[in-house]
Order: sequence, then structure tokens, then C-alpha cells
Amino acid sequence: MIRKLLRRVFSKPLPTHEPALIPVEKHHIRRESISAGARQTVARLQEHGHAAFVVGGAVRDLLAGIEPKDFDIATDATPEQVRGIFRRSRIIGRRFRIVHVMSGGETMEVSTFRAGNDVDSETDEHGRVLRDNVFGNVEEDAARRDFTINALYYNPTDETITDYHHGVADLKQKTLRMIGDPRKRYREDPIRLLRAVRMAAKLGLAIDPAARTPIREMADLLENVPAARLFDEMLKLLLSGHAVECLRQLREEGLHHGLLPLLDVIMEQPLGERFVWLSLASTDARVNAGKRTSPGFLFATLLWHEALAAWEARKRNGEPPIPALHGAMDEVLDIQGGKLAITRRIAADIKDIWILQPRLENRAGRRPLRVIEQPRFRAGYDFLLLRVESGELDHELADWWRDFIEADTEARLAMLTPEKKSARRRRRRGKGGGEDARPESGE
Ligand code: ATP
Ligand code: MG
Repeated sequence: MIRKLLRRVFSKPLPTHEPALIPVEKHHIRRESISAGARQTVARLQEHGHAAFVVGGAVRDLLAGIEPKDFDIATDATPEQVRGIFRRSRIIGRRFRIVHVMSGGETMEVSTFRAGNDVDSETDEHGRVLRDNVFGNVEEDAARRDFTINALYYNPTDETITDYHHGVADLKQKTLRMIGDPRKRYREDPIRLLRAVRMAAKLGLAIDPAARTPIREMADLLENVPAARLFDEMLKLLLSGHAVECLRQLREEGLHHGLLPLLDVIMEQPLGERFVWLSLASTDARVNAGKRTSPGFLFATLLWHEALAAWEARKRNGEPPIPALHGAMDEVLDIQGGKLAITRRIAADIKDIWILQPRLENRAGRRPLRVIEQPRFRAGYDFLLLRVESGELDHELADWWRDFIEADTEARLAMLTPEKKSARRRRRRGKGGGEDARPESGE
């Protein structure tokens, strides 16, 4: 207690420096670029006498000419005060308590300015900060953010940007610079290693050498990050619209090796490599076209060749195909779950897609009529297309399903093949598509 108190009294105050106040003529972000909900939320907070800004990714993205995906707000109001001002709001958060404010169809994240980690924050033995929920002022809030380009405060009311760490200039010069000492900041929160790569890939920035050099040597720190956080960050990375570029850079920075079983799988398994890059490229295309992307679909592709290998092994051990597939799915998802906590819902989605694969391959009898009625049919079919595109399956199968989907009921019935003939064509009765799903080569 006393030590803590002494530390607080004698701890060096953060170096105070005047922020740059950048007027709209210099940065050209008009308030109209901010969503109506975010503008209203900021205005209401200000009317109640609070400081409030649009912060973080939205300001950065607008400056970079990218449409922000959401608008986060920072304020000096406490979560309770925010809650008191907005009827449609609720306090949420595990690590930090933040408030979700609903306005129209939008949900804004409103967080209270937080102090950095210099003031008695709990850390684990590697220096990772376990709790930082100490409120602070806007300057402290800026200092605890990760990169200079992420510490910009936009005020829609007067259209100024408050910039404590030269973030606007860094963005213009296409540099990703860490606020403070990079090694210390990576130690505090190793997730920043991944964030550095994601930000650089997304915005086409060069990582400043001071922040880039330690990445490789500090990569092991990711092992101490809780699996759920790692999963959240990986999901952001994979759904960023720049997954191909992100993973290329992760590999370049040595971040994929040994730490994330998923990435090891992705990058070091020649069999699945083509399939995985194809799937990442198609995910990027979907994200960039503003189409919905499901994490389940993505992880189903990333882990498919693992599942296939496990499935094959079980069948070779004499397990019947379908129970073998179920066993293989659980096996693969369990291994991943240890390090990367795939949520239960996503795991269920993954399984739905995988289970449809043998069913899509076995077209005998009236089966296709039942398969096409499955709720996840579309995802299963899209997945099949990727398998065909990667060379795992014959084009004929994809063409047949495309025709079948487009056909009316009568034409569909005409496309069905009698049970017997089809079964003979598949060599072994009852094994169905399972046989076809085997990877071509045995390595
Ligand atoms: P995205 O476009 O992916 O949402 P973002 O920068 O908004 O990018 P978020 O995860 O939404 O990323 O975080 C919002 C802001 O919170 C960041 O801009 C940054 O200022 C701060 N922040 C997020 N994660 C960290 C972290 N691990 N360490 C320090 N600051 C962080
Ligand atoms: Mg964000």
C-alpha cells in the first residue's frame, strides 16, 4: 500500500507538450464524413459540458481516404455519466468498461479517457499489463494508444484534429510509428505486434525501424496473450480486406512461426497452401466489395486441409466415413482452441460447412433435393467452389451444382441420377464423397 502511494506521489508526471491543433483547411475532414449517430453522440456529450471526440481508426481512415467501418468516441464523462445521458445505451466490456450508445441503426462505442500504464498498473511476469482501467485526461489517453496515427482526436463541432504525437504527419509520410518505446509497448501488450502488421498492411505503411526491429525478437510474447484476445485480433486481421497482405507480412516479420498453430497450418502445409491463399484472396475481394463475410466460412477454409488429413487418418484406421469426419472435426477444432479460442458459434458454423462437403459430393438418388434445402447450403456450395478452384475436386461437380441451383423443379428432377448407377460409379457403396475428398497426393 505505502509503496504504491509513494510511487504515485513520486512517479514522474507524463511529459506535457502542447498538441497540434489542426484546422479543417489542413486536413479536409468535414463533419459530414462522420456518421449522423456519432455526430449526435458527440454533440450531446458536449452539450452536457463534457469533452468528446471521434477517435482512433475512424479519423485515421478518413485521413487515408478509406471509409471508416465504425466511429469510436472518447470523452471525459465516466461510463455512468454517459449512461445517464443516453437512454438507449448500456455499459459493456470485459477488459475496459465502455458504453454502447445506440442511435438510429448505429451503435457507437463511447470510452472514457484512460491514463497510460505508467501509474501502478498490474503486470504479469513478462510485463504484460493485466488491467488498465484508470481514467485520465485526453493527453494521457493519447499517450496510452498504440500508434501515432491512432491517437488523433477529431471534433466535429469545430472540425479540428487534436494531434499529440504527429500522427497526421506520420500518416502523410506513410510511416507507422509507435507512441513511446516500442519494446516497452510490445511488452505491455503483445497484441500490438499483430496490430503493427495489420495497420501497415491495411494502410500501405512502412513500419518505422524502431518499431519493426523488435517484432521478430519479441514474437514469443504472443504466447502469453489469452486465446480469446488472440482470436479477436486474428479475426480482425483476416477480415480486414487485406488478409493476403497481412499474412505475407506476418511471415516476413517471423510472426507466424511456432506461436499461432493456425498460421503454422496455413503457411507450412504445402497441400493446403494454394487453397488457403485462394480463400484469403476471395475473402479480401468480398470484404472490399462490401459483401458479408462469415468468420465460420473463413476458418472452415483455413483449417480444411487439417481436417481432411485427420479424416483420412481415421478412415485408414477403419472408422466409417461419417463418424470419422465428426471425430476429425472435433480433433482439429480442439487443437486450435487451445491457443486460439474459436468461439462455439463459429465452431458450429465451421462444422456445418464441412459436413456439407461429402453431402455435396454424393449426388446419388434424391439427395441433392435434400441438400439444397439445408440452411447452410449456400456457404457449403461456396466452399465447394473454392475446393474446385484449388484443384482439389473436378470442375464437373461445381458445374453440375450451378446448373442444379439455377434449374426449376422439373429440370432438377431430370438432373437426378438413379441411386444404383451412381453408387457403382463411386466404386464403393456408402463411402460417397468421402472418397473423392481425399487430397490428391499423399504427402
Ligand atoms: P480498425 O479499423 O481495425 O477498427 P482501430 O484502430 O479502430 O482499427 P480498434 O481495435 O478499433 O482499432 O481500436 C480503437 C483504438 O484504440 C485504436 O485506434 C487505438 O488508438 C486504440 N487501441 C486499440 N488497441 C490497442 C492496443 N492494443 N494498445 C493501445 N491502443 C490500442
Ligand atoms: Mg475501430
